[in-house]
Amino acid sequence: MSVSVAQLAVAGGTPVRDTNARPWPAWPAATEEDIAAVADVLRSGKWNRWRTDRVVALEEALQEFTGAAHVIALASGTAGIEVALKAAGVRPGDEVIVPAYTYVATATAVLQVGGVPVFADIIPETENVDPASMESLITERTRALLPVHVSGLPCDMDAINALAARRGLRVIEDAAQGIGGMWNGQRVGTIGDVGEYSFQASKNLPGGEGGAVVTNDPEIAEKAFMLMHINYEVLGWNYRLTGMTAALILSQLERFPALQARRQANAAFLRDALAAIPGIAPTRVDPFVTADGLHGLGVRFISAEFSDGAPVSRDAFAKALRAEGIPCALGYGDPVYRSPLFQEAHTRMQDQCPVACNHPAMVNMDYANLHLPNVERLCAEEALRFNQPLLLGTREDMQDIVDAVGKIHANQSALTAAAI
Ligand SMILES: *Cc1c(COP(=O)(O)O)cnc(C)c1O
Repeated sequence: MSVSVAQLAVAGGTPVRDTNARPWPAWPAATEEDIAAVADVLRSGKWNRWRTDRVVALEEALQEFTGAAHVIALASGTAGIEVALKAAGVRPGDEVIVPAYTYVATATAVLQVGGVPVFADIIPETENVDPASMESLITERTRALLPVHVSGLPCDMDAINALAARRGLRVIEDAAQGIGGMWNGQRVGTIGDVGEYSFQASKNLPGGEGGAVVTNDPEIAEKAFMLMHINYEVLGWNYRLTGMTAALILSQLERFPALQARRQANAAFLRDALAAIPGIAPTRVDPFVTADGLHGLGVRFISAEFSDGAPVSRDAFAKALRAEGIPCALGYGDPVYRSPLFQEAHTRMQDQCPVACNHPAMVNMDYANLHLPNVERLCAEEALRFNQPLLLGTREDMQDIVDAVGKIHANQSALTAAAI
């Protein structure tokens, strides 16, 4: 069999991109400035929050950057959600409405404060939570809405804030992926009562681990600060950030605007070029999105539109794309409620409260029989994601992505014939 350029790499052809010769951008990446900033803290001997000045400097820089009145840096994004929930008044037994399409930490944070996660369906075109689904789930036990800006694409905060105001609920934003995102000119995370960012290594502003709680409410800020550090006054955690990590994040923040501008330019190019290929649907950018945070670009694969003969599955498409030298993820593989934590908690960790202790607030939660159609279809058949480091490539790199998708579309019969 002759090997031609047009032949799909998954079927033995030449890949669009030779990733050994032309690797994709590595992430996270440290500059000499980052290394010097961390080394300075190490040499100073002032490593912890109470001795270093770097943690407060980071909080001040994030105030400036986000426009939030108060910033509390802490050990992780997950810690930030826990602190934010508790500071906003979520108590044991309270229901908190979360999207089913997110990282599991959104839901575990609710459980860690004794709350009950109630899963809402999503809007397929944006992958973000559907405010109408949230509304349908409100009971007399609901205390808060916890929207997630998935891939950093801002949620419909008009609808979510209006719903919360109407029903007397708190809004806590999981902006772990969203520090680059803006809604009507305002940074996501600063729109609800309280929000949170993550500085985990994969995120757009990385420090290895780390997070921040942001709020304009002085009472929530005071509580969040007390909860962040173990102390004799209130029941707190030790979620303090180190000076070394704060220095690293501060140094990364200097570069963040330039990197984010590159992600935006590349994503704009990809959105246009990919949308021209049948069955390839990048996430919709609503008018209230004044900046997409771009912790990756979500794309739906719509088999019925992509396939011009026998149906091509999302999984076969993704396999063919990777063979062409284009890394792509399948988004979150499952809705969060389908994870072992919610389906098998009783068999795994029998003493885990409130998940598996017959907690009165949880006994009404029938996660085993929960089915949300949009999120289940997205996970099973449609979700693809180009993770954010790809968006730091050159225009040529982006063209490789488009060329590979176009090549697979044009040669799709090879996939279905060989049942790849
Ligand atoms: C990364 C992430 C978190 C958790 O942040 P960590 O800093 O890793 O604890 C929470 N929610 C979402 C949506 C995330 O992407």
